Amino acid sequence: MKNVILLRYGEIHLKGKNRSFFENILFQNLQKSLAGIDCKVSRISGRYLVSDYDQRITSQVIEKCKKVFGFVSLSPAWEVDTSIENIKDAAMDLVQDISMIHAHKPLTFKVKTKRADKKFPVPSDEFSAQMGEFVLENFDGFLVKMQGYDIELNIDIREHGKTYVFWQKIDCLGGMPVGSAGSGLLMLSGGIDSPVAGYMMAKRGLKLSALHFHSYPYTSIQAREKVLDLAKILTNYTGGEITVYMVPFTRIQEQIHQKCSPNYMINIMRRIMFRIAERLCVHNKIQTVVTGENLGQVASQTIESLTNTNSVMQTIPVMRPLIAFDKIDIIKIAEEIGTYNTSILPYEDCCTVFLPENPIIKPSIKNSQIQEQALDIDALIADALENIEVLKIKP
Ligand code: ATP
Ligand code: MG
Repeated sequence: MKNVILLRYGEIHLKGKNRSFFENILFQNLQKSLAGIDCKVSRISGRYLVSDYDQRITSQVIEKCKKVFGFVSLSPAWEVDTSIENIKDAAMDLVQDISMIHAHKPLTFKVKTKRADKKFPVPSDEFSAQMGEFVLENFDGFLVKMQGYDIELNIDIREHGKTYVFWQKIDCLGGMPVGSAGSGLLMLSGGIDSPVAGYMMAKRGLKLSALHFHSYPYTSIQAREKVLDLAKILTNYTGGEITVYMVPFTRIQEQIHQKCSPNYMINIMRRIMFRIAERLCVHNKIQTVVTGENLGQVASQTIESLTNTNSVMQTIPVMRPLIAFDKIDIIKIAEEIGTYNTSILPYEDCCTVFLPENPIIKPSIKNSQIQEQALDIDALIADALENIEVLKIKP
């Protein structure tokens, strides 16, 4: 008898001819997320299996597996060489566990057998019935119930001579395997929204890099550490490392502050941020930019502002997964994924340096262009790009 974890995927089932492409990426991502844990990862017809790990760290292995996008559920299971005796042994063990976990009795249960291996001599329904009898004979306080039962005891008899016996089904995060939908550059501030936006796009299969604009020395070392900490939390979900591009923004901000109207300051800042993001994407073959923007949240996120800043992008699309979310729902996700407590640390962001009192709410593109004439935008961008710091954040 061997402890294993059985993992099931979701949407990939819909992929028809391309399925193996997604399956392979999912397999690699599972391996990556378990790197550093002594275990074996394998595939059995449409399922994945983690085995040969130290039983004492089962819950740690489960936590890691749960976060691999693409899986919808997992079950800790006993793997046995297929035989009626072995299956009974495994069932005995599981029912003992169940008895301890669920103190209240009577406990209702149902046995469900899946017989992929037709060489196994007993048909599924008949075997379920036999196993039900077996449990009733050996344990007090159990009742068979076909609908609305407390426990489902699963017996999965596979073609390769192994059977899996389990009762728990633990939800995973779903989504698509990271990397299966291309690559994205997350504009990562130290706020609440952008890490959530990154999480959501990674969940749809984007492989993430991150870009942060800092205004050192106006912004502190702690503000920088905070952003790197957020990137690190995101690696819990992306499996592999995240490249973070740290872009010096101080000179650009000083120039805007000196030369542009205060009410256009944020607008011009954001237009330059997007231009830099686009250049980085093109240079590094990244396919899209991701932001935490949200319709109506602040002056720079009115439809006019979004249209205005978006207009500087020439070839790279911007994805804004939070566009229609209420703040309270974004906060809920931030708490669930573990970024919230870091995001609310009170370190200033570059956008709060030289903050104007009345940012324009409906900036016209024409006026933005006029404001920009006071700046040598190409030189400023070139200078910022030359001084980028590239960091690899490991899980
Ligand atoms: P967040 O909570 O993500 O900081 P916000 O509500 O504060 O968002 P803004 O400050 O207007 O909104 O920023 C909108 C988006 O622009 C952010 O979600 C992020 O994607 C990007 N952004 C803002 N500041 C920075 C920065 N310093 N570096 C990189 N990206 C940034
Ligand atoms: Mg912000």
